[in-house]
Amino acid sequence: MTTEAATIPDRPGQTKTGDDSQPPTGPENADSTVSRTQVDSYSDPTKRSIRWDYTIFFVTLHLLALLVLLPYFFSWAGVAAFLVGVVVFGQLAIPIGYHRMLSHRSFRSPKWFERTLVTLAMCTAQETPAHWVAWHRMHHSHSDHAEDPHSPRISFVWAHVRWLVHESRTRIATFSMYEKYARDILSDPYYRWIEKLPSPAGIFYLAHAVVYALLAVGISVLVYGLNADAYRMAASVFVWGVIARTVWVWHITWSVNSITHVFGYRNYDTTDDSRNNWFVTLLTAGEGWHNNHHADPASASVQHRWWEIDLNYYVIRLFGVFGLATNIIRPRHVRKSGAGN
Ligand SMILES: [Zn+2]
Ligand SMILES: [Zn+2]
Repeated sequence: MTTEAATIPDRPGQTKTGDDSQPPTGPENADSTVSRTQVDSYSDPTKRSIRWDYTIFFVTLHLLALLVLLPYFFSWAGVAAFLVGVVVFGQLAIPIGYHRMLSHRSFRSPKWFERTLVTLAMCTAQETPAHWVAWHRMHHSHSDHAEDPHSPRISFVWAHVRWLVHESRTRIATFSMYEKYARDILSDPYYRWIEKLPSPAGIFYLAHAVVYALLAVGISVLVYGLNADAYRMAASVFVWGVIARTVWVWHITWSVNSITHVFGYRNYDTTDDSRNNWFVTLLTAGEGWHNNHHADPASASVQHRWWEIDLNYYVIRLFGVFGLATNIIRPRHVRKSGAGN
């Protein structure tokens, strides 16, 4: 889903005057020192008008996801499609692609591979690369302060989902947000093309759902023949592999914004409320070590203690073996020690 389309300049870097196209690094670079009481005086974002298109889409998909409760739609093939989808979209595309690769540039990839991950991420109904990255870098620059787009200091539900369904900003503000936080992303012609599409995340999501449905029907008919079993199997794979998976990936992504800024322990006394939370780590294959991440956002790994397992980092290292990830940034304590890890 996208918020209001911004006007994208033909050459996004043309007004560049400094190095602020670099990914912001974290709380130490935060330019806001607004206190909790100042947050209270900040114009209440919950009063902003509702984006009904988003709201209806979210509610509809949640209702459709309830179909998994009906025995008719159950199949082990459907469950397998769900699990594979969670790995592909909920691990490779969003946490590794949008987050660690694009937002923080914690590793580099060949362009074709980077764009593949971005294309997969576009199939999750979670914003365009420029928008996702801009929001996330803004979060790091202003974590739990007035300009943070999704701080639980507003409310837990706000941080989880409500911030997505309220009108966020004007076209001008969105454009200036891109200029400040996502200029490097928009220097890529493919990402700029995506941004100029009408409702790009919606188009990609719909297209992937149609392709998925056609494949599910085609394979089911090949296996079962033209009969009711084939259509039931295709429906099962679609409900579990697309609808339920989409809703699940939304919630595990959103839980990083909500749960890990409220519940858990802290290794570092960062200027935000970030926490390390094992439950969110289990859901997201590593993103739950969020206090570690806020303390050292440049690192490709959030595993700062041996038992804080970060599967996403191991996947990045695996990419490295095949030449799909280079310049992998190690945690700060490893960088300082000079060890190669
Ligand atoms: Zn955070
Ligand atoms: Zn981050």
